[in-house]
Amino acid sequence: MAKASNKYVYFFGNKKADGNGGMKALLGGKGANLAEMTRIGLPVPPGLTITTEVCAYYYAHHRTYPKELWAQVKAGIAGIEKLLGKRLGDLQKPLLVSVRSGARDSMPGMMDTILHLGLNDQTVGALEEAGGNARFAWDCYRRFVQMYGDVVMGVQKRPGEDHDPFEMVIDGLKAEMFPGESHVEDTRLDAEELKKLVRQFKYLIKERTGKEFPADPWVQLEGAVGAVFGSWMNDRAIVYRGKYNIPSEWGTAVNVQAMVYGNTGERSGSGVAFTRDPASGERVFYGEFLMNAQGEDVVAGVRTPKPVAELGKTMPDAAAELERVRKTLESHFRDVQDFEFTIEDGKVFMLQTRNGKRTGLAAVRFAVEMQKEGLITWEEAIHRVPAEQLDQVLAPVFDRAAIKSAKCVAKGLPAGPGAASGRVFFNATRAVEAAHGGQKVLLVRVETSPEDLRGMIAAEGILTARGGVSSHAALVARQMGKVCVCGAHALQVDYGKKTLTVEGQTFNEGDFLSIDGTAGEVYAGEVKTSPSEIVQVLIGENGKKLDLKESRICQDYLQLMKWCAKATRMHVRTNADSPEQAANAVAFGATGIGLCRTEHMFFEGNRINAMREMILADNTGDRKKALAKLLPYQKEDFSGIFTALNGLPATIRFLDPPLHEFLPHEQAAQAELARDLNVPVEKISKRVDQLHEFNPMLGHRGCRLGIVYPEISEMQARAVFEAAAEVQKKGVKVRPEIMIPLVGFPKELQLQIEVVNRVAAEVAQEHKTRFNYLVGTMIEIPRAALVADEIAKDAQFFSFGTNDLTQTCLGMSRDDSGSFLPKYQELEIVKQNPFATIDQKGVGRLIKMACELGRQTRPDIKLGICGEHGGEPSSVKFCHRAGLNYVSCSPFRVPIARLAAAQAALEEKEKPKAKAKK
Ligand code: PEP
Ligand code: MG
Repeated sequence: MAKASNKYVYFFGNKKADGNGGMKALLGGKGANLAEMTRIGLPVPPGLTITTEVCAYYYAHHRTYPKELWAQVKAGIAGIEKLLGKRLGDLQKPLLVSVRSGARDSMPGMMDTILHLGLNDQTVGALEEAGGNARFAWDCYRRFVQMYGDVVMGVQKRPGEDHDPFEMVIDGLKAEMFPGESHVEDTRLDAEELKKLVRQFKYLIKERTGKEFPADPWVQLEGAVGAVFGSWMNDRAIVYRGKYNIPSEWGTAVNVQAMVYGNTGERSGSGVAFTRDPASGERVFYGEFLMNAQGEDVVAGVRTPKPVAELGKTMPDAAAELERVRKTLESHFRDVQDFEFTIEDGKVFMLQTRNGKRTGLAAVRFAVEMQKEGLITWEEAIHRVPAEQLDQVLAPVFDRAAIKSAKCVAKGLPAGPGAASGRVFFNATRAVEAAHGGQKVLLVRVETSPEDLRGMIAAEGILTARGGVSSHAALVARQMGKVCVCGAHALQVDYGKKTLTVEGQTFNEGDFLSIDGTAGEVYAGEVKTSPSEIVQVLIGENGKKLDLKESRICQDYLQLMKWCAKATRMHVRTNADSPEQAANAVAFGATGIGLCRTEHMFFEGNRINAMREMILADNTGDRKKALAKLLPYQKEDFSGIFTALNGLPATIRFLDPPLHEFLPHEQAAQAELARDLNVPVEKISKRVDQLHEFNPMLGHRGCRLGIVYPEISEMQARAVFEAAAEVQKKGVKVRPEIMIPLVGFPKELQLQIEVVNRVAAEVAQEHKTRFNYLVGTMIEIPRAALVADEIAKDAQFFSFGTNDLTQTCLGMSRDDSGSFLPKYQELEIVKQNPFATIDQKGVGRLIKMACELGRQTRPDIKLGICGEHGGEPSSVKFCHRAGLNYVSCSPFRVPIARLAAAQAALEEKEKPKAKAKK
């Protein structure tokens, strides 16, 4: 690694900047883009960025700073002072600054911010005189004391308190000034009342902390910088990083920037805007502003803002300037921007820009339209859609018939698309508990704050009574792909009574509500959901398909998938056990089945009894009798699957039933089975006892079953080839790939291959036909990976069973690791759940090794993966890099895997170019 430089502070102002937009790792997203906007001549108030290296230093050195830091900060502040003709702490022209966090990836609302720093009992007078507006000056001051008290001095809600202590003081004053009125807006407090608030706030701080509020701006600055760095390790930031896989070592930068004011009067205001609609993806200027207000008022959602489109009515010049900014931002950054602006006495200032968070729907539309507009290439369009976000466009909507008869009780803003139904909970902790208990939950809040994050993650959907489309609830929901309706004003939430009242109807905690985050509607009760438009077009519902012409998202989606097909090298197959699942996956673009778990074919109806009979049989004769019952079922299913695949390959895995999953353990179930099989119940219970295993996952499963009872494999091979013969006769090509599970020793595979080849030859002769088939194995225990060169002598393909490979490589039960894995993730022992995302260092190494060894012996060996990881984007990319031929995943994840596979192929091509550039 290059030696860190001693430059810790980067200045920006007046069209010049030390940094630029490419320096996000060092300056954070916000700092880098402030520098970039300054360079391209956008109106940015001057400021400085303290680098993320300082954050790393701060945590590595007991919360202290590099010795050069403060001299550099002072020089930076002097630069701001010079440009503006103001000074920190000056009694005539005081410089006031904001102090904000800014990580490499944005973490909205997770860390702390301090505004109006530099105010004290003296400088507030200068601010008052300069603007001739006492109310404004005191409003700034009380906000500063409030934020500083909270963030730096730690005056916050105590355990058991439901409200912020500063807000309690404000409510107390309002109740005194406006008795009997509810919802008194802050703007009704005059200068004298705000002065009173400042006094009360300082008193509160002294009472809670024993310390005075600091008057010296340099002391204030030092405290604020420390608090922002400190907030990198607060609970909500940690939770957020965990969810979005942001490493803690990245750290945050700190931005100190001259304040501009959106609350100096009626020619001022603040807003948040997107260069296009981040919910629907439409190419319209989208956002909202509040007159005579500061940015935090817009984001906090306390007052409901107006759409930016209306700004032209009151301030046409500012509106025109914003339109210019919008165009400049899109053509410069070549992506949809989410920006914050302030209008101070008619002049527009830019406070931030970043790539806008977007719904999956919008991501697909932006990508496709921007390519058409010539702004980006088709390859860039592929990169613009995060693969996991495709989940959202495949998300369900309300069933049309069900919604017609449902009662709409309120309307709010459509903030996160999709349809969700669940039991309402009014607090995050209870919502989490209920969700963990298996309930579908809707989190309902007056407005959400970052503390609600855990509840939001656990909920199906989020509903708030207050707040706009850029409120915290909306931002976070969009990013998580949660269904969200916010600002549904008609809702009266009573936290004390745990009730929600609307239209004369009262809902208690635990009652059902439904929300439509695409339309912004709230419905009483539980409403049935139905598939997304893409699913309706490609797969249909109840036999009916939606016309492609009627679905713009499906058209965009298909365009994106066409580009993916052009870019990709890997195939995407599916894990499917029924003809219907196979057909669905093919509709999504799967190019075959990568795993058909044949034991799953017996879950239905009374097939399970034949399966149990086979398992419980204690002699070959009885087992053969039971197998004869299973044969027609298997044959029928394979015929259906081969027909649905219409010539695409099907990997059929021979039985791998962890026995305990199929055996009846309870007395009643054993009695029922005894009746069905017409045997004494004692016989069943005795046999169940005999078959009891201490570690069933390491027990008599996988090929061990077929080795001990070859007649099982014989029956399965016969079912496959008889079905193949019948389907082939109808002119449909059939390409079975028979897969032997849980192999660790070459001999295991050899014995099973003998059976398969013998039966194939028999059936071929009986039907006077030939079969085009392969026999291969799963690589799902470490020994198989270690001796892959030997196994490849017999195996025509390997498919990595990463569920078991993870279980056996890590020695962690795939069924029971939930009790300790969350703690492991919290402590960053593992960065991600290894059963969801491949542990690349450990399991990944086995995979790479097996690929190399396998190819040494058999250069054309086919390699794939069929564990759950096959549908997880970062694992798919790993598989591409490891050189696999295909990944296989559940049908509804096929589009996600296709996108990730295409992205991986493009990344590989782009890598040498990126290296050459350096
Ligand atoms: C695996 O182990 O990854 C696998 C696909 O097999 P199963 O999940 O059925 O054990
Ligand atoms: Mg397995």
